[in-house]
Amino acid sequence: MPVYDDVLRRNQGEIEFHQAVYEVLESLSPVVQKRPEFVEASIIERICEPERQIIFRVPWVDDKNVVQINRGFRVEFNSALGPFKGGLRFHPSVYLGIVKFLGFEQVFKNALTSMPIGGGKGGSDFDPKGRSEGEIMRFCQSFMTELYRHIGEYTDVPAGDIGVGGREIGYLFGQYKRITNRYESGVLTGKGLSWGGSQARTEATGYGTVFFVNEMLKTRGQSLDGKRVVVSGSGNVATFAVQKVHQLGGTVVAVSDSSGYVVDEHGIDLEALREVKEVERGRIDSYVAKVGGRATFIEGGSVWDVPCDVALPCATQNELPVEGAKALITNGVQVVGEGANMPTTPTAVAAFQAAGVLFAPGKAANAGGVATSALEMQQNASRDRWTFDHTEERLADIMVGIHELCLSTSDAYDIPGDYVAGANIAGFTQVADAMLAMGVI
Ligand code: NDP
Repeated sequence: MPVYDDVLRRNQGEIEFHQAVYEVLESLSPVVQKRPEFVEASIIERICEPERQIIFRVPWVDDKNVVQINRGFRVEFNSALGPFKGGLRFHPSVYLGIVKFLGFEQVFKNALTSMPIGGGKGGSDFDPKGRSEGEIMRFCQSFMTELYRHIGEYTDVPAGDIGVGGREIGYLFGQYKRITNRYESGVLTGKGLSWGGSQARTEATGYGTVFFVNEMLKTRGQSLDGKRVVVSGSGNVATFAVQKVHQLGGTVVAVSDSSGYVVDEHGIDLEALREVKEVERGRIDSYVAKVGGRATFIEGGSVWDVPCDVALPCATQNELPVEGAKALITNGVQVVGEGANMPTTPTAVAAFQAAGVLFAPGKAANAGGVATSALEMQQNASRDRWTFDHTEERLADIMVGIHELCLSTSDAYDIPGDYVAGANIAGFTQVADAMLAMGVI
């Protein structure tokens, strides 16, 4: 593929970005045949090149009075459908290749929501683990001291991602407000409920993934009721995926973090999990004591060895390799829904599809988070506040809509039931049509 060769040449060493682009380009050959105007206007080449990439120094002072330096990123990928929109990730593994893969995925994901939002992503190689409240605040303030000039409610609207939750969004918003002397609620999403946040935003990504998976099960005349589920990760997405599975009658028997996983055959106790992860900010092994020793902690190892009907990877990219896929298939998994971004490696995706396992890519299954961020922007713009139930209902409708769009698109292109191709084609064509209409942008 000449377009892909160009991406490799221009973005050397950015392997996650290469992977994300390859996976989308692989799906596009039927579109190229049906819509030659996209080729004539070099739309694919343009979509693979971010509109703007910002890299900056983030200096801050730690508790020992030592100056620390991190690197900050914001990649404004595509604004054909609306202001750039996408989260910030604080994790030591963050570099340009990670931010660009996430930004690229975000473009198509946001299009799938049918909300007026473009795609972008940002973050830093800052590691929040073990840092004090004061250090986290000073880091966020320094990060925003540069970022503020690039964002705005009509320009670019960041949110959270790995390592960035409500606490960090609070510090970031506080600094933005201070520097700009504006109470511009719509500049960030994931805000606290008393200062412009939306009900159900915290829950939205995990809930949305589970709504999507339930729709997939319905195509086989089933539901989550009575299903055995394994969730990887134990952060924001994982926690609320666990909650919604339980509300819909399934049982989550395992969750994980980067130190290992716990198996709890009674079903993961959500309060104990949140106590460990959100209050104590501890490691997953502490869950065992919290539930009186009824669970087992397995250090290292693969959470995908735990037998289940439904697997929800909700931690990070490439966390579900082909070995994990084989173990899941052998143990009878029926559905895999990606709560995280690109958690399943390409060979693992192929293995699921070959085995007839229903597989939903993150850009469709986890789009509920950004969709609810768009609902937060809507509430900010109209200075309104919706109830939890109303917001959750909107989220559920959006997820049903994305599910339908993926299936109807895969039908239209003669690849029925292929959620990967359906999501890529549906997302791509919406962005491509808008770009075509706007001339050479
Ligand atoms: P959190 O920081 O809340 O949680 C991340 C979880 O993943 C933690 O349990 C963490 O464990 C684990 N994890 C992170 N890196 C690794 C790694 N290298 N190996 C194993 N485990 C790891 O993040 P979120 O829940 O917000 O995000 C999870 C995923 O969902 C990401 O892929 C993100 O991009 C995606 N996503 C998030 C959205 C949101 O609204 N938050 C929206 C859409 C997608 P540990 O503490 O040990 O690092």
